[in-house]
Amino acid sequence: MISSPLLNQLGGFVDGGWVGAGSKATLSVVNPATGALLARVPDMNAAHATHALESAAQAFAQVPDIERRRAWLEGIADLLTTHRTELARIITLEQGKPLQEAAVEVDYSAGFFSFYAKSLAHLQPAPLAGRIKNLDWTIHHRPAGVAALITPWNFPLAMLAKKLAPALAAGCAIVAKPADLTPLTAIAFWHIAHQLDVDPGRLNLVIGQAAPIGEMLCSHPAVRVISFTGSTAVGKILLEKTAPHVKRLSLELGGNAPFIVFDDADVLTAVEALKANKFRCAGQTCVCANRVYVQSKLLESFARETAERVGRLKVGDGMNPETEIGPLINRASFAKVQRHVQEAIQQGARRLVGCDPPASAEDFGAFYPPTVLIGVTPEMSIAREETFGPVVPITAFDTEEQALALANGTPYGLAAYVFTQDRGRAERVIAQLRFGHVGLNTGQGPTPEAPFGGMKQSGFGREGGIEGLLEFCEVQTVAAS
Ligand code: NAP
Repeated sequence: MISSPLLNQLGGFVDGGWVGAGSKATLSVVNPATGALLARVPDMNAAHATHALESAAQAFAQVPDIERRRAWLEGIADLLTTHRTELARIITLEQGKPLQEAAVEVDYSAGFFSFYAKSLAHLQPAPLAGRIKNLDWTIHHRPAGVAALITPWNFPLAMLAKKLAPALAAGCAIVAKPADLTPLTAIAFWHIAHQLDVDPGRLNLVIGQAAPIGEMLCSHPAVRVISFTGSTAVGKILLEKTAPHVKRLSLELGGNAPFIVFDDADVLTAVEALKANKFRCAGQTCVCANRVYVQSKLLESFARETAERVGRLKVGDGMNPETEIGPLINRASFAKVQRHVQEAIQQGARRLVGCDPPASAEDFGAFYPPTVLIGVTPEMSIAREETFGPVVPITAFDTEEQALALANGTPYGLAAYVFTQDRGRAERVIAQLRFGHVGLNTGQGPTPEAPFGGMKQSGFGREGGIEGLLEFCEVQTVAAS
């Protein structure tokens, strides 16, 4: 079982106090690398969610002033940094990613609280210049209301921070539901936030089965914003369930990122960027390259250099400092990756690196061997679906038009990457890519200072940047005589 000074209470947090500890209904949290039971946490139900929502609604009635909000945001950023090592350990134990990556996730998360602490001036009332229709006009950004935050397991701290920091900055009261597979990081976060003078009911944590809690978050009248990160399938459920209540949604959904390498690119820059982008979190990130398109002249050298690097990656338990790639989150994820690779090979792709992993009946230790495939075609499931695993599927192309058609030929539109030294081509191609985030000669993903989000079925709404703050605000225009 896990022991941590940040996990003295294993429960949810409602109305300023811990709830659910000692509950008979529990969820088991397991280390995905070893199968060891880390903890049993309460499986909270719709009644707990209702209590959390009511206390949030009560807290929302008193909007804290900007200085108090700034102090909370700065305080959380400092405490995350203070507890960086312990938080990273908890993330690695319950999620599986290498310890060093987990520490970077803590830094990234702290960055959202620091950034929004510095961004509060954007919430000051903004008068329009001059008198219009013989009236004075002022634009206010009011906190939207109770915000429900639903987060996935791949970045248990960062996905929470991206939502929680702007929601708190805006003056909302919060009810958060983390993924069942990784609730311990959220509990540790609440332990940290509890050290600050936050009013009871402002920050609530509900852990438990998604469907009944989700139902309550979607239908309760106090909830004005639902900020969700997860699969497109669940995003569609939330769209349906909130429609009768006309709630605002911010949906950060699945991706299917193209990584396009033109003949004039610097091949080693592109290969190194791909390695860093693709294998973070064992390929289980929404922004990681899912389809690699390489122009024909570079194909051979690009594939060779990629295979050479990928073949050396060290797979293992994330707690081992030498590990570069941890386990997949569970066997269901493993089975999807395996299916994608097997189908691709049956349909004519060639495996340059990797092997058939041994079968196992256990739902842990799902270490998938890093794999490089060439000869992948757009019809294969590996090119059409988000694989969420450590596999590089390479497809050759000849012309700019072909690359664009391949890249845009997906219902998703989250992240894309373009490698070329021709600035004119870069501008042309990027302007036509239907993706919310584009890396040019870099595999860099989002940063707290910039808005990030999807187009098409990757969702709508933005996280990060001022746009991320405005997701939690209502604009109110006052015309005064
Ligand atoms: P998921 O199955 O959609 O789950 C995400 C969250 O939604 C979890 O907390 C889950 O709870 C909850 N949930 C499930 N069913 C629900 C329902 N009916 N009502 C309310 N909440 C519900 O996604 P995942 O497998 O955890 O995460 C992987 C997906 O997230 C991938 O598609 C990835 O691309 C996407 N993602 C997107 C971004 C982005 O920024 N666009 C970032 C990271 C990940 P339980 O865990 O309890 O089931």
